[in-house]
Amino acid sequence: MRTPMMAGNWKMYKTIPEALALVEGLKKNVADVKNREVLVCPPFCAIASVVAALKGTAIKVGAQNMHAETKGAFTGEISPSMLVDAGCSHVLIGHSERRQYFGETDELVNKKMKAAFAAGLVPVVCVGEILAEREAGKTLAVITVQIKNGISGLTAEQAKTLVIAYEPVWAIGTGKTATPAQAEEVHASIRALYAGMYGNDAAQAVRILYGGSVKPDNVADLMKQPNIDGGLVGGASLEIDSFTKLVAY
Ligand code: PEP
Repeated sequence: MRTPMMAGNWKMYKTIPEALALVEGLKKNVADVKNREVLVCPPFCAIASVVAALKGTAIKVGAQNMHAETKGAFTGEISPSMLVDAGCSHVLIGHSERRQYFGETDELVNKKMKAAFAAGLVPVVCVGEILAEREAGKTLAVITVQIKNGISGLTAEQAKTLVIAYEPVWAIGTGKTATPAQAEEVHASIRALYAGMYGNDAAQAVRILYGGSVKPDNVADLMKQPNIDGGLVGGASLEIDSFTKLVAY
């Protein structure tokens, strides 16, 4: 029922020529993939060039962050409508690196998520526990707070369109993936929580991506889990071969 999504988060990697080289390879390799939604999230500077290069393909382009206001004196920031103008359809909100290094809170995540919808962007809202929280047995409690505070106040339609990414912070960029069972436990809990917030139809429609060292050799087992609807991928999305394999898992 839910179309699997494979999303690449390029973080602060790739100049414009490097981004275009990656995109040319992906265009060749994944243009014909059926029943998958493919999203790439380049750095801001490369967005317009990547959008132009992908014109006429089904590969979508998202941003990695945005400001919650529509315009104003916010030096160095990018507004939701600027992303739409550049050709973005999606935006990552509340990635753990934004939370960890730039102080983003659930309240700000909630504001940005609503601003993204208001501008016509699909937000991909990221949640996840740090290692100490997992080791203290607090994973589900932490995720529950992040979802209740960060993902509150959606309309019924928005609740179906939203994409959630569960990314255990200890698994991001570390080579330590959550086991399929660990990931599935959290994904199933998120879906149950979401059903309580927005009803069963929304909970069945919302896609919940897993992120955290997803690689070609672990993607198939993760994707076999009933509540894992795709991947949000950092490192392995930076190479043509590995991202192609992930999309074609
Ligand atoms: C990410 O950037 O969201 C991520 C999961 O990175 P990696 O795949 O490198 O762990």
